[in-house]
Amino acid sequence: MPTKKTIRTRFAPSPTGYLHIGGLRTALYAYLYAKKNGGTFILRIEDTDQERYVEGAVDMICRTLKEAGLNYDEGPDVGGKYGPYVQSERKAEYLKYAKDLVKKGGAYYCFCDSDRLDKMRKDGATKYDKQCLSLSVAEVTKRIKNGEPYVIRQNIPTEGETRYTDLLFGEIVVDCKELEDGVLIKSDGMPTYNFANVIDDYLMGINCVIRGTEYLSSTPKYNLMYDGLGWERPEYIHLQPIMRDAQNKLSKRHGDACFEDFIAKGYLKDAIVNYIALLGWSPKDNREKMTMQEMLDIFGVDGLSKSNSIFDIAKMRWLNALYIKELSADNFYKLMKPHYAKLKYLKGYDLKYLSTLIQGRIELPSEVDSLVGFINEWQDFDKELFVNQKQKTDRELATKILPDILKVVKASTMDTLYENLSALAGKLEIKVGAIFWIFRIAITGSLVTPGGATEMAKLLGKERVVERLTMLNAQFSVLN
Ligand code: GLU
Repeated sequence: MPTKKTIRTRFAPSPTGYLHIGGLRTALYAYLYAKKNGGTFILRIEDTDQERYVEGAVDMICRTLKEAGLNYDEGPDVGGKYGPYVQSERKAEYLKYAKDLVKKGGAYYCFCDSDRLDKMRKDGATKYDKQCLSLSVAEVTKRIKNGEPYVIRQNIPTEGETRYTDLLFGEIVVDCKELEDGVLIKSDGMPTYNFANVIDDYLMGINCVIRGTEYLSSTPKYNLMYDGLGWERPEYIHLQPIMRDAQNKLSKRHGDACFEDFIAKGYLKDAIVNYIALLGWSPKDNREKMTMQEMLDIFGVDGLSKSNSIFDIAKMRWLNALYIKELSADNFYKLMKPHYAKLKYLKGYDLKYLSTLIQGRIELPSEVDSLVGFINEWQDFDKELFVNQKQKTDRELATKILPDILKVVKASTMDTLYENLSALAGKLEIKVGAIFWIFRIAITGSLVTPGGATEMAKLLGKERVVERLTMLNAQFSVLN
């Protein structure tokens, strides 16, 4: 057994599918708590319930944790002194501890068959009646020798209270009458989740257990096992669930996105991890954007929340935009490439240049379509867009000066355009702003564009700009 010198936390998911956001947050806090205290963070796979096992889930969990930067020190694929780190590979361990607990009075053999248990339940019993607790050792030995099937049950005291201190919720007191003599070892010799979890936490030297509040009420039973076996209890931090809305928990089963889904949508992993950290924890200075190192510097149990947190996608997008702004031009381009590829109309455009225009304006890569859709939808745009009261422009003015603008464009490169159009404003005695408004609307047909008039001209390229202006002039001369 390791000694309690350093903090050892673990993340103990069941391999039932993708790692959901709540799980990832538990892992993150367990990681932060360990690392902050110079401790060790462990990944253990809890697969005692083989029926819920999903092929590939273990790999997915390992991959996701690493991708999120939660590098565990010990785990199924990285090994460690206290392995194996997958419960199904530890089967041999559990029975001997259950037998030890029986010897110490904390558990007993139970031979009641399902008919008796069903009848008890039908007759209104809410828990097992301890009938087999009174069997003598000789009787038990004989029945086991005869090959009678049995389970091992926990022997919960019938009276008194059991208490423990949760580092977040404070003292939790439970009346032993409320607890059931649950099964620790099933008739096939396999441990139940409740038992395996305790044995493994002990054998792996876990001294701080961080998990969801759904375990707040099972923990007294676990503590009685620690006490019964003469082991020191770990510390506990139970975390409130993350909610989709006021009533419903966030869950993959209900179609809520998980880490991989967010990555696929173009969220950056640092932004996801940063956002998840805020779902149940707020640093003292209320900082919101934090790198992993900053989180490590300031993480503390005192900032954890005792109430539910609601997943706010708008806030995550906002954070994502902050992280996107910080990417190098190259990395932003790489992030955008698959999203550009989906938009056929972008073929032939200078996408590196487009990237420089949109990097500071985008929350999510998929928004690119709404930012540059004008490239595709210019035809038949609403000519009322020429109206701008501040610049004193309207359709009439546009009709009048677009032929001059076209001449200037033809005589310019996309780099001298700004200067030449400004000069044209002087010549026509109208505001520079008016010229650029009319020019930008004329070539984009869009009120909102990811850049000014000459940037949009550069993106479209001289040929398209000339073509669009020529078409517009033709339209206007037919109409007038
Ligand atoms: N295997 C449990 C789960 O996935 C973990 C419970 C615990 O952390 O103790 O919910």
